[in-house]
Amino acid sequence: MFNLQSLLRPHILTLTPYSSARDEYTGKEGVFLDANENALGSTTDSGQYNRYPDPYQWAIKERLAPIKGVRPEQIFLGNGSDEPIDLLIRATCQPGQSDASADNIIIMPPTYGMYEVSATINDVTLVKVPLTAAFQLDTDAVLAAITPGTKIIWICSPNNPTGNLIDPNAIRTILNAASHALVVVDEAYIDFAETASWTSELDNYPNLVVLQTFSKAWGLAALRLGMCFASEELIRVLNKIKPPYNISAPTQSLALEALDHEREKNEMVAQILADRQVLAEKLLSLPIVQHIYPSDANFLLVRFTDAKAVFEYLINRQVIVRDRSKVKLCEGCLRITVGTPDENERLLTELRQYNGPTT
Ligand code: PMP
Repeated sequence: MFNLQSLLRPHILTLTPYSSARDEYTGKEGVFLDANENALGSTTDSGQYNRYPDPYQWAIKERLAPIKGVRPEQIFLGNGSDEPIDLLIRATCQPGQSDASADNIIIMPPTYGMYEVSATINDVTLVKVPLTAAFQLDTDAVLAAITPGTKIIWICSPNNPTGNLIDPNAIRTILNAASHALVVVDEAYIDFAETASWTSELDNYPNLVVLQTFSKAWGLAALRLGMCFASEELIRVLNKIKPPYNISAPTQSLALEALDHEREKNEMVAQILADRQVLAEKLLSLPIVQHIYPSDANFLLVRFTDAKAVFEYLINRQVIVRDRSKVKLCEGCLRITVGTPDENERLLTELRQYNGPTT
């Protein structure tokens, strides 16, 4: 049975959170002499931004909730989704333990690097259960790896860098089996996939956490705005331990503006998917391309005859892709983001002129 209280580090349970000046008074009328701001304004052209932003970003959450089919209280917004990744680990895992009963998190490599980096920064035991050769969960091995100390199981779907969705039946099995732990489904790339988000299951699984981001389909990587959806109880804990004003005012207003244009976001996604198809077909016609893995994301994992040399060659021609050729299960692969049609053509033109390793 899931019990959030027993999942949390004891001192987080009893923590009195920082109470910021604007916790209660954001959006209210009055003369605000409570937060040591500069009441005269700022040196920007608009003179704006002299006031602290809403610490809980309610305007965005109220706008986002119906779009995502959740309640505003089930949303946490972070400085990128990297912020909730870190906060979830800090809320639940006691650092510095290494024996068999240690608090631990489970990841399934190859996957997004920050789960491991965040765990390492926090000195938390990391258990790795590699994906199968088909880039799916090795469900039996994951189940065998779960211990009473397991606090978080990270599932990235669609997975980075492999690009595929993880079988929902396997995710359900883990959600049911690890009922004492959080199961985080990182859906950074979900808008490019044809399946529904796991957010619709939040009320069925109190241990489910879903991560999404404005950095991919919404085209707002520079904003640094990540979404975390979970039980209201867990969101209250994240709010307790987050830095007071973690989302800036410009980010909040630009996100609100973006949310008014969901249709345009969907149109961009449709174009990226069409361009992904064209790019994949053209890449496959090149003799140096051995294989392209099916993608449910806005990138392709491509196996080359000599990935490292192709990577260096492209860098020299100012076309930068991601070298994943040394990553286990991705040997010989480069990860290529779908660019604009012109950028994709440029990549293809360079690759057509490739004459093999030069060193
Ligand atoms: N999750 C996955 C799977 C990612 O690939 C990325 C970024 N590449 C992130 C999370 C982080 O996204 P952000 O911090 O920009 O929201």
